[in-house]
Order: sequence, then C-alpha cells, then structure tokens
Amino acid sequence: MIRKKHTLPRADDAGNTPMMRQYLRHREEHPDAVLFFRMGDFYEMFYDDAELAADALGITLTARSKDKGASKVPMAGVPVKSAPGYIRRLLSAGHKVAVCEQVQDPNEASGLVDREVVQVVTPGTYVDEDTLDSSRALHLVAVVPGESGVGLAWVDVSTGRFYAEDVADVHHAEAALLRVAPSECVYPEGINVAEDSALSALVANFPDCSLTPFGEWHFDRATARERLLGHFGTRTLEGFGCEDLSEAMGAAGALIHYLRETQRQALPHIAQLVPASSAGRLHLDAATHRALDLIEVARTGERRGSILDILDRTRTAMGARLLREWLGAPLTEKDAILRRQRAVATLVEGRETRERLSDAAREIRDIERLVSRLPLGRINGRDLKALEKSLAAIPALITELSSMETPLLVGVRERLETPSLPEIAATIAAAIVDEPPMTIKEGGVIRDGYDATLDEFRVTSREGVDWIARFQEEEATRTGIANLKVGYNRVFGYYIEVTNSNREKIPEEYTRKQTLKNAERFITETLKQQENRVLGAKERAETLEFELFNSLRTTVQGELIALQQAAEAIGELDAVVSLATIAAEEGYVAPELVDEPVLEVTDGKHPVLSSRDWLQGEFVPNDVHIGGGHGTLAVITGPNMAGKSTYIRQAAITVILAQIGSFVPAASARVGIADRVFTRVGAADELSRGQSTFMVEMTETANILNNATERSVVILDEVGRGTSTLDGISLAWAIGEHLIRDNKSRTLFATHYHELTELADRFEGSVSNLNVAVREWKDEIVFLHKIVPGATDKAYGIHVARLAGIPTSVLERAKTILSYLEEEHLHGKTSPSAITPTDMEVDDSEVQLELFRPPNEELLRRLREVEVDATTPLEALQILAELKRML
Ligand code: ADP
Ligand code: MG
Repeated sequence: MIRKKHTLPRADDAGNTPMMRQYLRHREEHPDAVLFFRMGDFYEMFYDDAELAADALGITLTARSKDKGASKVPMAGVPVKSAPGYIRRLLSAGHKVAVCEQVQDPNEASGLVDREVVQVVTPGTYVDEDTLDSSRALHLVAVVPGESGVGLAWVDVSTGRFYAEDVADVHHAEAALLRVAPSECVYPEGINVAEDSALSALVANFPDCSLTPFGEWHFDRATARERLLGHFGTRTLEGFGCEDLSEAMGAAGALIHYLRETQRQALPHIAQLVPASSAGRLHLDAATHRALDLIEVARTGERRGSILDILDRTRTAMGARLLREWLGAPLTEKDAILRRQRAVATLVEGRETRERLSDAAREIRDIERLVSRLPLGRINGRDLKALEKSLAAIPALITELSSMETPLLVGVRERLETPSLPEIAATIAAAIVDEPPMTIKEGGVIRDGYDATLDEFRVTSREGVDWIARFQEEEATRTGIANLKVGYNRVFGYYIEVTNSNREKIPEEYTRKQTLKNAERFITETLKQQENRVLGAKERAETLEFELFNSLRTTVQGELIALQQAAEAIGELDAVVSLATIAAEEGYVAPELVDEPVLEVTDGKHPVLSSRDWLQGEFVPNDVHIGGGHGTLAVITGPNMAGKSTYIRQAAITVILAQIGSFVPAASARVGIADRVFTRVGAADELSRGQSTFMVEMTETANILNNATERSVVILDEVGRGTSTLDGISLAWAIGEHLIRDNKSRTLFATHYHELTELADRFEGSVSNLNVAVREWKDEIVFLHKIVPGATDKAYGIHVARLAGIPTSVLERAKTILSYLEEEHLHGKTSPSAITPTDMEVDDSEVQLELFRPPNEELLRRLREVEVDATTPLEALQILAELKRML
C-alpha cells in the first residue's frame, strides 16, 4: 500500500489532542491497514487513510482543525450501519481494514473513551453475512514451498473448515489451489513471488487473490505445531491424523496464528484440522477449467453459462458450495463415485420424493455459516429463529429418506437423526419471540413465560405504564385541565404538559421543568416515583433478556459439532438432489463406469449448449468412440463453425460429470475412469486470454506430453495454430505421434490441418478420423453439426465469409487465390515470399491485374498473410477494410 504523502505526527507528540494521540497510537500499530476509528455512529479515517478512502469509496473528504500542530487533518467517515459494504470495497481494492471500536461505555468514561482494534479485516477472513457470496467457500490459504514439495493449508473462517496437505510438486499444488480457489494467500515473507512457481501459478489463476507475506518463523514446523496444539487444546495432532504433515504443518500453524492476529478472538468453530488428499481426485488444471467453462465462463468471468450454472439446482447455500466443490474436484475411485451416482439414481427414479426433498430444503438457511457465528457472538434473535426454522425442516427430510437404502442417503439420514437437533429447535422456539428485533440489547427478544423473573419485570413495567395512563385521566379530571397530557422524553423522563391557556389552573405541587412556546412541562413527586419503577423494571428486563439470550446462545453453541454435521449432511443431500433434478429434467443417463480406458457415448450432448437457453434450434447429439478397439486418438476436421470444439469439449465434460457422480447428457455412456483430463486450446483460438501466446500454448502442451497417462483424457483444440502453417502442422503431427505412442491417452484432436488425417494411415488401429458433416447447397454450406467417420479435405472459410456478407468479387478472387496457393503448396512452393506477384496473375480480370501490379506490393503482401482458415468473419471484414485503405 502506498501511503507516503503525509508524515503522521507522532502519537506521543503533546501538540495533539488526546483523541488524536489515541488515534495515532493505533495507527502506528497497524501501518498496513486502513484504520476505521469509531466515533459515535461513524468510523472516521484521517490523513492518508482518509484520502485513500475518499478515492476508493467516493466519500467526501473533509478536514478536522481541532488539532494543533498540523494545520488541518484530512478526514473522511462512513456510517457504522453501512460499513460492511465499504469494507468489502476496500478489500476488493486490495486493502486491509483495522476496525478500532469504542470498548468502553461513553457514559462510564471519564474523559476519553477507551478504544481498541477489535479486528483486522482481510479479504480471506471477512465473513460479513450480507456481502459474502453464499455459493462459494471463503478460503484463506497458506503456501509453503519446501525442499521436497509444497505445503498447503486452507481455512474457511465462515464455516470453520480447516485443511492441510503436502503435495509432491508444483503441478499438484496448482491443481489443489484451483480446487481451493483462495481469496487470500499467506506465504513466508522472504519468498519472491515471481520466482516461486506455486505462488506465481496462483497469481496467474487467481489475479484477485490477495497476497500476504507473513513472518517466516510462523511457518516453522515446530512453532506451527505448538500453535495448532494450543488452538485445539490437544497434546498431539494424532487424533486429526495430522502428525505426519511436513511443510503443510507450517502452513496450518501459520494460518492459525494469522487468524489470531487478525480476528483477535477465540475461534472454537475451527474445531479440527483435516488432512486433505489429492489422491482420489481427478487432476484438472487451470487451462482445462478455462476451456471447459466449468465453474465460470472464462470469456466473461461470469457464472452464467458455465457447467456449474447448468447443474446447480441446489436449494441451500451448503448444497451450492458443495456442488461447486465436487465439480472442481471429480473423483477417481469407482466406489466413491458410485456412492454418489447411486444416490442420484434413486432420486431420479423417485420423482415425488425428490420434489418433496427439494421443497423442504428450500426452508433451510445457511446454517453452516450461521452456527459458525455463534462463538463469535455475532448472532441475533432473528438468526436463532432462522436456525430454528431450518431445523424444523429436518423431520420432513428424515421422513422422505426413511425408505431409502442407498448408502449416501442413509448416511445423510443418520446425521440428521441426531436427537439434539429437535431439542435445539424446541429450546429456541420456547425462548425467542416469533418476530425478534435486530438488536439483542433493547429487549423484545425473549418470550413471555420463558423466565419468571423477566415476566415479573415486564409486569411491573407494564403496570407502571398503565398507572401513568390512569394518572393522566385522573389529573385531567382533578385539575379541570381537559387537554392535560402525560408524555415522555429521554432528557426529562415522564412529564405533565399543560398548554398556556390553562396556566392558571396549574396546581401548586407541580414542579416546572421546561417551558415551550405554547405549553409548560411539569413533574410531580408521585410521577417521579412511578417513573423510577417503570424505567428500572424496563432496564432490568433488558439486561436480563440480554443475559438470557447469551445463555441460550451458549446452549446452542454446545451443539456446534452436531449442527455442523447436520449442515454438511444437508449440503450433501441438496447436491445429489440437484444432480438428480437436472438429470431427470434433461433426460441424462447414468454412465457405466469401467476401469479400462475407453470412452463410449451415444447421442452425447453439451450440457450448456443443449439446454434451451443457450441455442436457438436443436442441438445435434453425437457419438464418441475412443479407446478399446477404436484407437486412442481421434482427429476431427471440418470447417469453421461446424461444431468441432463443441464436440471435443462435450466429451471431456462427460468424463468429468461421470466422475463427480452425476448422470451425463447422452443416451448411453461407458466411461473408463480417468486420472486426469487435459484440455488445450490453441493460442489463436483462446480468445478469452488477452495475452495468450504461442509460448503459453506450447508450455501447456509440454505439460500434457510430460504428464498424460494411459488413463488420461486429452482434448486438443487447434493446437499448433499459433505459429506459421508449416511449423504448426509439424508440431501438431509430432504431438499427435507422441500421444499415440508414448502417452497412449484417450485423445480428441480438433484441427483445421487436414494433413493430420494422414496419422490414421501411419498408425493404423490407433487413430480414427472424424469430420463434421456439411451439406453444400447451391454454393452455400449448411452445417449439420453431425460427426461422421472419415476425413474432410476442404476448408470452408470462403463459404463462411460469404455468409458474413463479404462482397462476391472478393470471394471470387479469394477462391482463385486459394486454388493457386493449393497448387503451389503441392509443388512445394509454400513460403509466401516465394510467390511472386506474377505467380498470382492466374486470373486475368483487368481489375485484378491492376490490383496485383506493383507498387501495390504492400497490399499483396498483406493479402498473402491472410490465413483464410484462421480468419473469423469479423476479422475478414476488418482485413477487407484495411485492403481498401491501401488502394
Ligand atoms: P468449430 O470448432 O468447428 O469452429 P464450434 O464447436 O465452435 O465449431 O461450434 C460453432 C457453433 O455451432 C456453436 O456455437 C453452436 O452454436 C453450433 N453447434 C456446435 N455443435 C452443435 C451441435 N452438435 N448441434 C447444434 N449446434 C451446434
Ligand atoms: Mg473451434
């Protein structure tokens, strides 16, 4: 953070007011955070903080001139009520916020109120309910690059989930971090991020993740272990299965210490450290995530249109988060996959059950995050009421599940049958009123009849109020002042108000308290006594209510583990119900999972494109036959826009869906369980990444060739296209060969290099050629989107250009040039510079001769550069405009 402009006065500088000195003291302690300094209903910021906040938040910058020395102090403030929104924006802009509260009742303070920084808010720890996305986890991660691997730990403060894992190398670290999707990363201070491959991969994949260097000694294994033991209050980490962690121990301990420093309170909801394992997970890398639009659409960065978007029919926040997690981390163990798939199948069949479960789940709030706030004390009557209502939905779930024998569903039911859950619901129901207020300090939260003492206070207070009402009537009659009124204000308490017109009727015992324009206000001895009774009772009732609420909170908190487990079970149920719902609605089928490396799909579809919202017209289903007797590599050729990319992606998505336990969009599918799914899109096609280069394309391809196994699925889309044609073809060919011979992975290779179809001749039995059917009709082409066996030998760029409205004369000319180039290509004269202008003059139209005659050398050169195949209609138009300008 840059904050250099103002040299802050020193806190002990006597020239400052005591308050400013207090401010500066806290400021000095938190040099790298924006300090929110509580003053009444506002958080104020001063000096650089004020200027930074005014800039980042668009709030007004003012000046405070009470302090001597520095002439005027820049100042800006935000109302406490709307602070969360402002804090969220500062976090997004990469800042941290130290929240400094008044920790003393202003009425009790003699002089300056005590203030303390109660929390340092960071992107990975800010759990404000209203501004936090409920559909994804909030992950703070620690990365410790070590000698023999990378130590990782991650924690979600909003739910208390805490994991650690030692991974073997950078690739595994990257894959694990992709699953975790962190908002903030803590790492040992001394490390240069740009030089560390795990951290730079993190930066590349999550540019918004905030990086926090943290003292190296916090990552020391022994120190870290002590801190973990201290946090959990245990003598060993054996119980968590975490004693063997190596670098990950340092990561986990550092996280706990970082949380302690920033949250400044005990975090008992982080109740265990779970050893995570990448084993049993399908390895997906960042390029694959991007190419398949798994969690979000790479092009837009939005969730809409992603696979997750289509799949997600969850009703609860827990379900939404879990489904997202599943999709990012498919399984590789058949039993684990089948456990989910069987639950989905049961629910696909039982339509009514499914719908009733779904309806019941709708009533369930984000209880996982809600109960995590219990120990933090950040919970009000409405939260407990919401918890009660959510728990009340559980018996209906149990009833629906009682007839089900599928292990996953039985497991869910068993966790939901915990007797303490209905007890908690009943306790809350008995204690909290139906519609509790937001605050827990002003009463009105606890029901009548819950506590005898509270009832007494309330009766007294109510009686007092009745007495006062009667008193008004009686006094009016007694004094003959018909409009005599008894009122109340905070300063004077209860008073009797008499208008000036009745001044002479005022009895002697009235004591004047206040004179208004048209009236005067009085008190009497008896009124004062009653007032004390009423107010005393009210105050005591409020204090007692607050105590009762807190003890209720403690009771509920005592069931934290049961509640967390219930939340987890509900998430799991919701996720499988969601998968069953989409499967039933879209007619998906249960894939048969096998061990041999095959992929056989009949009438497969792309889940996004085939759903109504994403395609005008019918989606054409296609088969996939790869592995087994069909060879391991399929080359798919066909014109631009025919459906090649869609086809190969849907194959990869089918594998991924199958391995999360989902049904798949097809009439039938046989999926050999994959260890990895690799997807590479040639740099020229990967429009989503602005600076995508051929270098990136090749780096990613190298990763495939080095890591893909017989069990992997590899999707290559126009790889090689990022360089010149001959270069590209040669590379693509060699890559294909390597995949066939060495990796032996199931591979789908979409390419516009027809030359690759010859691979089938070289590697008979290992390679199949496919193309996308196109019907030519009156010199036009119709895309049938149907994958058929065999190779195409035509590129249809010129036809596409026609569809885009390129003038006929240009199209005609392009055809001529194309046939010329093709001929030259056959004669080995493929270098553009080898083609002289005269070579081009095969067509003797006057205009065109003109066109190619020097000095239009430049224009000619430009036209030669155009790779018609690789040109989108829009680019064609732009080139045309450029050519015209050269004339
Ligand atoms: P290519 O990679 O061959 O250039 P794409 O796979 O990008 O083609 O598909 C281009 C467009 O064609 C898609 O955006 C979609 O609108 C349509 N399309 C692709 N496959 C199908 C299909 N199987 N059925 C219907 N339309 C399809
Ligand atoms: Mg394509």
